[in-house]
Amino acid sequence: MSPEFKSEELTVKVLICDPIHEDGIKRIESAGLAVDYRPEITQDELSHMIGEYEALIVRSRTKLGKNLLKKAKKLKLIVRAGVGLDNIDVDTARKLGIKVVNTPAALTNAVAELALGLIICLARRINFCDLEMKKGKWVKKKAIGMEISGKILGIVGFGRIGRCLAEKALALGMKVIAYDIIEIPDRYLRMGVISAKKIDDVFKNADFISLHVPLTKETYHLVGEELLSKMKKTAFLINTSRGAVVDSKALKKFLEEGKIAGAALDVFEVEPPGKDELIMMNNVVATPHIGGQTVEAQRKAALMAADEIINFFKGERLFSR
Ligand code: NAD
Repeated sequence: MSPEFKSEELTVKVLICDPIHEDGIKRIESAGLAVDYRPEITQDELSHMIGEYEALIVRSRTKLGKNLLKKAKKLKLIVRAGVGLDNIDVDTARKLGIKVVNTPAALTNAVAELALGLIICLARRINFCDLEMKKGKWVKKKAIGMEISGKILGIVGFGRIGRCLAEKALALGMKVIAYDIIEIPDRYLRMGVISAKKIDDVFKNADFISLHVPLTKETYHLVGEELLSKMKKTAFLINTSRGAVVDSKALKKFLEEGKIAGAALDVFEVEPPGKDELIMMNNVVATPHIGGQTVEAQRKAALMAADEIINFFKGERLFSR
C-alpha cells in the first residue's frame, strides 16, 4: 500500500459507475484508495450515493448532468475511461471545481487497426463475398478487388489515430498523403508521408480517404458534396471519427450515383442508426462504433483512468500535508 493513502481519514473514495477492465480496479486498490465498483448503478442510486465520493470513473453509460453534479459535495475528479465527454456536463463540473479528464490515447491503436481492416474489407469486397457465400452463392468472378500496396491513402486529421494508421499503411506499401490544420511532424515526412497543403489535394489524389478529425464547428459536415465531388470514381471513404463529420445525405447520393466506389462507416450522425438506407447499400460496410472495442484498448483505458486518479490524489495529499 502506498504511504500517501494509509491513514483512514485520508482515504479517498472512488466510485466506478460503468464496467471497466479489472486491472484498473486492482491498480487503484493497490494504491490504497477505497473503490466501490458498481458497473450497473442506476441514475437514481447514483444520485443518492454521489455525495460520498471524491472521484468517479465513468464510461458513456452514466450521465453526469447539472443536478447530479450539484449533489456531489466531495467530488474533485471525474475520469472518463475512453473518449467523448458528451455524457458529462463539463461546464458545470468546472464551475464546481471538479476536474474532468479522459483517456483518449488508450484507443489509438484499436481505431487505427479498425480503419485498416475496413480499408482491406473495401478493397477486397470481403463483406460482399461473405454475404453472398451465406446465401450459398459463389461470386468469385464478381469479386475482383484491388491490392492496397502501392495505393494512396489520404488521412484527414493527423493526430494520434491518423499517425498510427499512417505507420501501419506505410508498412504495407501504401503511399500516404495527410492533411491537418497543424503541421505534419518532420518525423512522418521523413518516413514518406506527403503533407497536403489543402484538404482538396487529399480528396483529389487518394484511393482511400480515412477521417480522423474531432467533431467541432469547423468539422461538422466537413465532408459534403464539395469534397466528395473531388474524389476519384474508384475511391473509398472510411469514417471512424464522428458521424457528423460526414454529410450522410450527400454521401448516399454520391454512392447511389456511382460517383465514388464505396464507404466504410463505424460512426453515424445518429447512433444507433437503425435500418438506415445508407447502411443498407451494397457498397457500404458498417460497424456499430467499435473503434475502441478491443480487450487491449479497454484494459489500457482502465489502467490510464486508474493512473489519473492515483496521480491526482497523490499530488493533492502530499501538497496538503
Ligand atoms: P487527436 O486529437 O489526437 O487528433 C485529431 C487531429 O485532427 C489533430 O491533429 C487536429 O489538429 C486535427 N484537426 C482538427 N480539426 C481539423 C480540421 N478542421 N481539419 C484537419 N484536421 C483537423 O484525436 P484522435 O485521438 O486521433 O481521434 C480522432 C477522432 O477519432 C476523433 O473524432 C475521435 O472522437 C475519434 N475516435 C473514434 C473512436 C471510435 O470508436 N470509432 C474511438 C476513439 C476516437
